[in-house]
Amino acid sequence: MRKRLIVSAASALSLFLAVPASATDFQPGAAGAGDSYYPTYGNGGYRVSHYDIRLKYQPATDELEGTTTILATATENLSRFNLDFALNVQEVRVNGRPATFATSGEQELEITPARPLAKGSQATVVVRYKGVPSTVKKYGFTAWLRTPDGAVAAGEPESAWWWFPSNDHPSDKATFDVSVQVPDGNQVISNGILTGATSQAGWTRYSWRENKPQATYLATLAVGKFDVTTDTTPSGLPVYNAYSKDLGENADAARASVERTGELVDWLSGYFGDYPFSSVGGYVPNVKTGFALETQTRVFYSPRQFARGTNTSVVVHELAHQWYGDSVSVSHWSDIWLNEGFARYAQFLWSEHENEGTAQELADYVYASHPADDAFWSVKPGDPGAADQFSNAVYDRGAVAIQALRNAVGDDAFFRILKGWPAEHRYGNATVQDFQAYAEKISGKKLGDLFTTWLFTAAKPATGPAPAGAASLAPGADAGRADGQLPVEPKSWKKIQETNSLHDAEH
Ligand SMILES: [Zn+2]
Repeated sequence: MRKRLIVSAASALSLFLAVPASATDFQPGAAGAGDSYYPTYGNGGYRVSHYDIRLKYQPATDELEGTTTILATATENLSRFNLDFALNVQEVRVNGRPATFATSGEQELEITPARPLAKGSQATVVVRYKGVPSTVKKYGFTAWLRTPDGAVAAGEPESAWWWFPSNDHPSDKATFDVSVQVPDGNQVISNGILTGATSQAGWTRYSWRENKPQATYLATLAVGKFDVTTDTTPSGLPVYNAYSKDLGENADAARASVERTGELVDWLSGYFGDYPFSSVGGYVPNVKTGFALETQTRVFYSPRQFARGTNTSVVVHELAHQWYGDSVSVSHWSDIWLNEGFARYAQFLWSEHENEGTAQELADYVYASHPADDAFWSVKPGDPGAADQFSNAVYDRGAVAIQALRNAVGDDAFFRILKGWPAEHRYGNATVQDFQAYAEKISGKKLGDLFTTWLFTAAKPATGPAPAGAASLAPGADAGRADGQLPVEPKSWKKIQETNSLHDAEH
């Protein structure tokens, strides 16, 4: 009894000391997450654990309204904090009390709670808003894409601002509930599992849940009229695919590609380990843009990905991201090679599987087809800069770097690295430097020179990525080979390139 009294007194004292002496100990949180490429993206001073997004959308007018409830924990004593958002805000509440708010910059929403937030305390932030997202331009564009029958939110690195307020940086991942009411006859597609669809007074509310941590740019929303297919993979994973009803001549090729999602996830699991999420699928809305995006568990494809016929290669690319990018996310946008290099390399493996060119042949082809003075080699995949974040070099040179790693450590260690990495950082974040350290640990080899040459030097490496015992491509020969002949273009090459060659169409 006496001991308990002492403990109580000590707790009371520490509680007292934890409360700062005055309001000056509370400071505004930073307006950015500290990303060198995008200094204002994300924010400082708190972490989000969950987003509950509850909206109503009218496709006829593009009017979106509703609330987002954010569960956060303060990591500093906060007098104020920011969210990233582009629509008009009507009301903000923090822990039930009205908060004052202001906007600044392109997408900053500054929130001053009635009572400051102590470090370590939890906050429930409710933001009520409305807007016409397709008319709201930030940095000259909107990631809210209109379709003939609705709209789609998809874009990288920006897409959240046009439909929910967030801490918009991949280093802060959270679970999501997305519930959207649309006029009867329309459907809503989002991430994870569809947990309900109920109609009342002419409106249907669709509720989706993603129960694993998800980066904000990997959240997606589509409203429109879709044909839906559902299935379960041999490994027991629920598959949900959706195709706009007006895909026209691209409809069959889209289905012939995306309907192989379950099979391809199982195939990729052989290389990358257990699939990290509770559902999978893709959707093809009738958008004009040309890119695809690895939105978590529910990949966004544009119809143009299938305009030249069936393309399983793009499906492999986006599904590979579920491990490399979605489950293991970049710590900073400069780590983008961890996403695109590996998703592109998965396409190389698929090409090999389909007898349309081995990974080595594809790597040789990339190496040989870009002369030393090609701007392609001026991009460093390990730190490409914001302007070149999605340049071909990040994908193609990035994948050749992975083939060089494979040749340096041998197939046994290489495939252990490929499978071990997603398990090592599952649902987390990592850097290129973390990957190098992991590859060195698994292989027992020093890889500093290899990473410097292939990822961090703005020049064509002197020799191609040769397998052990084989002759390297000729040093300095722009045509790649001593005889001046380009290697034959691998059969899979054009399909592989289609994955991202249309990306620039966005903005
Ligand atoms: Zn990609």
